[in-house]
Amino acid sequence: MKKLIAGNWKMNGNAKEAGALIIGIEEAIAKNHGVVERCDFVVCPPFLHIHLVKELASVCALGAQDCSDKHHGAYTGDVSPAMLHDIGVKYVILGHSERRQYHMESDSMIAAKAVAAHANELITIVCVGETESEREAGKQEHVVGGQLDTILAASTINHKNTVIAYEPVWAIGTGKTATAQDIAAMHGFIRGKLNEKLADGANIRILYGGSVKPANAAEIFGVADVNGALIGGASLKVDDFMGIAAAA
Ligand code: PEP
Repeated sequence: MKKLIAGNWKMNGNAKEAGALIIGIEEAIAKNHGVVERCDFVVCPPFLHIHLVKELASVCALGAQDCSDKHHGAYTGDVSPAMLHDIGVKYVILGHSERRQYHMESDSMIAAKAVAAHANELITIVCVGETESEREAGKQEHVVGGQLDTILAASTINHKNTVIAYEPVWAIGTGKTATAQDIAAMHGFIRGKLNEKLADGANIRILYGGSVKPANAAEIFGVADVNGALIGGASLKVDDFMGIAAAA
């Protein structure tokens, strides 16, 4: 399975910086032809910069960081999956822990968003992961399993329209990374769940996310059932983003 290298730019950068970042990434990919045989690339800028970044991207697919579960109407501030599809967006991140934490997104809300996104031909990158206290209590599989049960039951998921991202909340933006053993255990657990619930579960990509950087990427990519990475901080620097891709 080709690795998916996904950059989540979060709420960072003005238009000029977004343009410079995608130009830098595209130039770096062009200089390293082999990398596109091993990796697919997606960048997820803030909504406001998607159009601009799309004009400058050729190898990188475009992703959004969220979408509405509604198709259109009186939903002030929301962006529909139909609007994203219309401007050429291919992917959408759903259920990122920051959306769960700051916008109170529930698993059923995320499932509804996934159904709407799939109806508009978007590929969803669905995030799951436990908090630090949940891991300390040994409840990580219970938590991630519960998140997956709701999301997998309610949506239209298959390997063509869905990517799962395992992101332990305590590893996001903290510099702490899960150990290779912890990642192997959780990715194996998620793979088992996908196989149990879906006919094509074996073909769904499972990304790891949480303080991935060039220095730890090779070890993480060496773990079974790690099919790519969802990258926050390190996706804002061309050298770091490409250093992670090189490790794949
Ligand atoms: C993320 O936001 O999805 C993420 C993994 O962030 P970071 O790489 O900065 O930990």
